[in-house]
Amino acid sequence: MEVLIMSRPVAYNINHKPLEKDISMVDMPDGYKGEGFFATSLDKVVGLARKNSIWPLPFATSCCGIEFMATMASHYDLARFGSERVGFSPRQCDLLMVMGTIAKKMGPVVKQVYLQMAEPRWVIAVGACASSGGIFDTYSVLQGIDQVVPVDVYVPGCPPRPEAILDGFIRIQDLVGKEGIRRRNGNRYKELLESYGIQ
Ligand code: SF4
Repeated sequence: MEVLIMSRPVAYNINHKPLEKDISMVDMPDGYKGEGFFATSLDKVVGLARKNSIWPLPFATSCCGIEFMATMASHYDLARFGSERVGFSPRQCDLLMVMGTIAKKMGPVVKQVYLQMAEPRWVIAVGACASSGGIFDTYSVLQGIDQVVPVDVYVPGCPPRPEAILDGFIRIQDLVGKEGIRRRNGNRYKELLESYGIQ
C-alpha cells in the first residue's frame, strides 16, 4: 500500500538579500594610499578606534531607561555601533548615558560616577528630564544634569524613541571620531572642568 506523506514546505529567508549588500563598512579616514600602504594621522586612527568601541554606562532612573532597554534589544541593537558592552563600573566605561529624572539629592551621585570615569569620557543627557528637568519643574528635581557635569549631546523627547537615542549616539560617535587626542590637555577643556569644580 502506498502511503502519501503530505508535508508543508518550509522556507527560510524568503526575502533573502545578497549578504554583501547588508554589510556596511566603517568609513576609511582621510589619508594617502598607494601600492601596499595607507598613511593617515594618528588623531584619525585613534578617533576611528574610539568611536567604534564606545562602552556606555547607563545611569537610568526612570521611564527613559525603558527606551534604552529597547535600544539595546535585538530590534534596534546598539551592538551594531560597537557598543554592546554596557558596563556598570564607571572605571571601564567612556560614555555616561543619563536617562530619567534626576532628583537634586541624586546630583552628587551623577557627579561622583562621572569623576570615577577615566578620560576621555563623554556624556549624553537622554530625554527631557536629564536635559532640563522635563515636566518636573519642582524644588526637588535637578533642572538638567549639565548643572553638575558637562554634557556633550542632548536627546530631546519624553521619552525619546530608540531611534532618537540611536541618533544621539551617532552624534557622540561623530564627536569622538573628530576629537583631537590633545583636546583633553588643552586650556579650554580644563576651564570647562573647573567651571564644574573638577580639577
Ligand atoms: S523625559 Fe519623560 S519619559 Fe523620560 S524620564 Fe522624564 S518623564 Fe520619563
